[in-house]
Amino acid sequence: MEQYDVVVIGAGPAGYVAAIRAAQLGLKTACVDMFAGKDGKAALGGTCLNVGCIPSKALLDSSRQFHNLTHAFAVHGISAKDAAIDVGTMVGRKDKIVKQFTGGIAMLFKQNKVTPYFGKGRLLPGRQVEVTGADGARQVLTATNVILATGSVPIELPFAKFDGKYIVDNAGALDFAATPKRLGVIGAGVIGLELGSVWKRLGSDVTIIEALPEFLAAADADVAKTAAREFAKQGLKIELGAKLSKAEVKGAEVHLTYSAKDGEKSLVVDKLLVAVGRRAYTEGVLAGDTGVQTDERGRVVVDDHCWTGVEGVWAIGDCVRGPMLAHKGSEEGVMVAELIAGKAGHINFDTIPWVIYTEPEVAWVGKTEAQCKADNIPFKTGSFPFAAIGRAVAMNEPAGFVKVIAHAETDRILGVHLVGANVSELVAECVVAMEFKGAAEDLARIVHAHPTLSEAVHEAALAVDKRAIHKAN
Ligand SMILES: Cc1cc2nc3c(=O)[nH]c(=O)nc-3n(C[C@H](O)[C@H](O)[C@H](O)COP(=O)(O)OP(=O)(O)OC[C@H]3O[C@@H](n4cnc5c(N)ncnc54)[C@H](O)[C@@H]3O)c2cc1C
Repeated sequence: MEQYDVVVIGAGPAGYVAAIRAAQLGLKTACVDMFAGKDGKAALGGTCLNVGCIPSKALLDSSRQFHNLTHAFAVHGISAKDAAIDVGTMVGRKDKIVKQFTGGIAMLFKQNKVTPYFGKGRLLPGRQVEVTGADGARQVLTATNVILATGSVPIELPFAKFDGKYIVDNAGALDFAATPKRLGVIGAGVIGLELGSVWKRLGSDVTIIEALPEFLAAADADVAKTAAREFAKQGLKIELGAKLSKAEVKGAEVHLTYSAKDGEKSLVVDKLLVAVGRRAYTEGVLAGDTGVQTDERGRVVVDDHCWTGVEGVWAIGDCVRGPMLAHKGSEEGVMVAELIAGKAGHINFDTIPWVIYTEPEVAWVGKTEAQCKADNIPFKTGSFPFAAIGRAVAMNEPAGFVKVIAHAETDRILGVHLVGANVSELVAECVVAMEFKGAAEDLARIVHAHPTLSEAVHEAALAVDKRAIHKAN
């Protein structure tokens, strides 16, 4: 029986990062993962690298290039005759990127001496991990510490079951062989908006049906309003307060029935993407008597340090509480590896950035105005539009703004909300400022290069005290 200091179950961004950090700290580490790539071989990296963050960004980038060529370049004096997109080439490029990165994790495991096991891992009592390979062969590893990092899977609707052809999940919508003429999307969350945008840019008639009455309820209300306006301009149809009740495949079409604000409606589409959220994947991972608890949503119960309450057993990433974000899982992985090695592992849940890679991009960190109000925190705000930023206008990307929320008395930054071009990158500065317990004044006093998009962050911070230079206060 092979003995390890650490065995990680799951090699997504939570598990593989935990494994690498544990190995860096001198711990004998193994990582068990069962994800098989398109070739049936082990593909490390979990949802994120195989069917999530990376492939979606690859398609978002390809579709953006095509959309700009056909819709946005004329203003620069650039024209192209007979512009066309070959979906097979686009998806093939995405697959190559996925392979490059999943292979990259295998290399990193080798360099750091993490032993990979390809198969399904199951925690047994006494910190033993049973690994069952695709051929049914079993082996048992023993460990001083086990880290559960089994991630999440898409939620399936009982009346719109995935068939992989007409009714698909994220993996299916990343692999369409051709642009669907009509695409229905259930759920206006991050995944629905990003993948809906990809196919809309390639010419699909996209309708997104969202059960909640409010658009992007987790985001700042002004940001959500601007994003909704920009998406509508692009022709993305988003119907709020609409609940799907039936999805029937008839021939090569999917017939939808849903209740909307104005009564029952029907819609016929060629493909249906169901993106109503993800659930923790913990099925078959725990033998009955390990002592590890799961909650009503199937998530492994952990404390703030990702400890399950069972000696030497930890859980991180999408299979535990908190936002389902790759970077949140990775940081939990680093924290747990460091705690195991006797170091002071740490993660600040208050400064986890959120990004939606639509056009315009949406990003935020910290509290929204609504949250400040609900928590009775006195606050002041400053915002600045990209339309007044030279670089944004030069790029022909004037949509959106930056809003800084600061404590009314201490000036400490409570949240920053951004919608516009490249805000996925701009949010990092705001995270740093918040992590260092910065005030709006700190951001306002920092020299920002001109002309850059980051000047909008600077001006929004200045606007908190009504001293923005390039707009009326
Ligand atoms: C389309 C899409 C786009 C996304 N875009 C972003 C984004 O831009 N930014 C972002 O932060 N997040 C994004 N996410 C979310 C992100 O992918 C997840 O938050 C992240 O992958 C979670 O990491 P994880 O390691 O916890 O789990 P996962 O990535 O789900 O990995 C878990 C791994 O464990 C394996 N596993 C499960 N059970 C077992 C077992 N018993 N034995 C062995 N192996 C097992 C699984 O096969 C998988 O390989 C996106 C998700 C999707 C679907």
